[in-house]
Amino acid sequence: MKCKRCKEQAVVGLPSHNAAFCEPCFLGFFRKQIETAIRRQKLFTHEDRILVALSGGKDSLSLMLELGELGYDVTGLHIDLGIGESSRKARAKVEAFCEKHGFALRVAEMEKEGLPMPLVKQHIKRPICSVCGKVKRHYFNRIAREGGFTVLATGHNLDDEVARLFANTLRWDVSYLSDQGPKLPAEEGFASKVKPLFRLSEYETAHYAFLKGIEIHSDPCPFSSGASFTSHKLLWSELEHRSPGQKFNFYESFLRQGRPAFAQLEKEQGAELHSCPDCGSPTSTDLCGVCRVRAMLAEKTGA
Ligand code: AMP
Ligand code: ZN
Repeated sequence: MKCKRCKEQAVVGLPSHNAAFCEPCFLGFFRKQIETAIRRQKLFTHEDRILVALSGGKDSLSLMLELGELGYDVTGLHIDLGIGESSRKARAKVEAFCEKHGFALRVAEMEKEGLPMPLVKQHIKRPICSVCGKVKRHYFNRIAREGGFTVLATGHNLDDEVARLFANTLRWDVSYLSDQGPKLPAEEGFASKVKPLFRLSEYETAHYAFLKGIEIHSDPCPFSSGASFTSHKLLWSELEHRSPGQKFNFYESFLRQGRPAFAQLEKEQGAELHSCPDCGSPTSTDLCGVCRVRAMLAEKTGA
């Protein structure tokens, strides 16, 4: 197998791009995909202060390294969920990575916020992953707003996005379908949210992290039975195998044609938002979801 660009020996085959690359050309390809995403979707500029949510996984650390090398103003944010050894290991990976590359890092400790996930899990009847996701998004928003960051970036890749889109489509969830995508513009109370890796697959980010020697946290969360949307991802890998490029086309066509139609529908049906009286986050209910969970835990544990 020869590199598509320089004809040297290739190390990575990418059927969906009908290409194979040697190491330097793959790294160039990877960067170009991010630059194209930033430019075409107008994700941010060099004037923005970008908060990058770092879980310690391959995607978010790869994203941080690329944005840093591209000269963007980036600060890391890690949410320490307080899940024993697992959280300690993830946090240590993020801290070591930021130390090594000289990146500023903020850490939000859920233990100190009265929201350690083991306690939440003990007292909440809903699936823990959905509450945990809510808590993470809440702190992403809050720390971005309080720290004066203009953009919040996450490491969601193409596989994450397609699996989520597929799940939302199966339910015809108008609210989610109206704003799923690589960019959610800033609104009052919310920083702009971006996913600069949406053109890159999980396979590609895993290769990038490996070639760059990034030490990642790869243990699965002890509270979840596996990565999110695992069965949908398997289905899509089968479809992609049969018809390379289909995954990206599905997502891109949605952004062009589906999303605007759902956004219009949501505008007609959507709920009004106001500020949560406890924390100021935008919410359609009285207290926001996270403040409700916190209040409930405080009541149960007498804290
Ligand atoms: P996941 O939902 O675990 O696939 O994560 C998607 C993205 O959310 C990651 O790429 C990170 O950018 C962000 N993220 C997930 N967990 C954390 C965490 N504990 N702290 C900071 N960011 C996180
Ligand atoms: Zn609140």
